[in-house]
Amino acid sequence: MSDSLLLLDAILREISISKELTKENIHLLFILFQETLYEALYLIENNAVKRVKCKTERKLYHVKDIILEMNNKTTIIQQPYTCFIYPRYCSCPEFFNFTINEQKTLMCRHVLAVILGDTLNILENNDSIIDDEEFGELLYRWQVEE
Ligand SMILES: [Zn+2]
Repeated sequence: MSDSLLLLDAILREISISKELTKENIHLLFILFQETLYEALYLIENNAVKRVKCKTERKLYHVKDIILEMNNKTTIIQQPYTCFIYPRYCSCPEFFNFTINEQKTLMCRHVLAVILGDTLNILENNDSIIDDEEFGELLYRWQVEE
């Protein structure tokens, strides 16, 4: 797992300089994340990632995932999750179960979407800048919504 994290950090460093995803980087990211990479890119493409910047430079991210619930009929649910990059965190059950508890994955698609969107610098249109007090209130409101 630590070799994978080192490789990921090296890829992210390269992307943060070039601000683009090269074929080689996509290939390496696919080795690390498999289908999760495509799910993350899908979230970015569909504007599911919102970035909130605090005046003190703290950042938090809100990812609206789409979940299909199949009981008697199929229902589409928009499920919001709160993410951070430092430390890497997502409020989804997948992150808790497979990244934290079982350590089977490096991160969930939400954190990967946030990291790629932030590193590629393609989230500007989704930015909002708020002060510390609003930051705390927003974090609380998002957690209540989830
Ligand atoms: Zn997640």
